[in-house]
Amino acid sequence: MVQRAMDPLILIVEDEPPQAEMLRYNLESKGFRTVVATGGEEGLLLVEEEDPDLVILDWMLPDLSGIEVCRRLKTKPRTKTLPVIMLTARGEEGDRVRGLDSGADDYVVKPFSPGEMVARVRAVLRRSHPALADQLLQYADLTVDLAQHKVLRGGKSIHLGPTEFRLLRTLMESPGRVFSREQLLDKAWGRDIFVETRTVDVHIRRLRKALNIEGAQDLIRTVRAVGYAIDAGAA
Ligand code: CA
Repeated sequence: MVQRAMDPLILIVEDEPPQAEMLRYNLESKGFRTVVATGGEEGLLLVEEEDPDLVILDWMLPDLSGIEVCRRLKTKPRTKTLPVIMLTARGEEGDRVRGLDSGADDYVVKPFSPGEMVARVRAVLRRSHPALADQLLQYADLTVDLAQHKVLRGGKSIHLGPTEFRLLRTLMESPGRVFSREQLLDKAWGRDIFVETRTVDVHIRRLRKALNIEGAQDLIRTVRAVGYAIDAGAA
């Protein structure tokens, strides 16, 4: 799986602030990260800079039209598989066809309910990035259910603190990959927060203790002077 920060990042390209804010609020409350562009050119720039997992693209924008933005994304090799959900006003049926011609993956007509939009985002992500949408990570006898925030080992529920949960999630997204302490800090604490790297060791110790119930195999590998990985060949 491609390595990325924890929650799917949604780029919202929408020039009407209340609409953009409503989308941002509802997506973030469902665990997505968002970034907002107010025009087509800015949207294209943010695709390059932020590498989003999905784009919600308004049809009517002040500079480039949504269709033109979509067409440009779908013709570049680097962005052609980036999923796009197009937004348009009710009754633009001719537009609907043109929108799909431009390569949009789905289409939502305004006004829409926030719940409908979140469902569409999940559905489109599930098609393009199953691991991001299904929200279930599995490795050896460990299961992390991201939607329900639950961890199971061998079918038994394990209670983790929020930091241990985020650490485990990061490790489980790329089994076998060794993460440095700095990388784990970025992913489990966030890039702008200053925490000493040895704090990572403290939380890894807690995570290990919680996971290794009743003499179960240690699934966390410590790589000296480098960092940590989740690895069944760890012992
Ligand atoms: Ca608009």
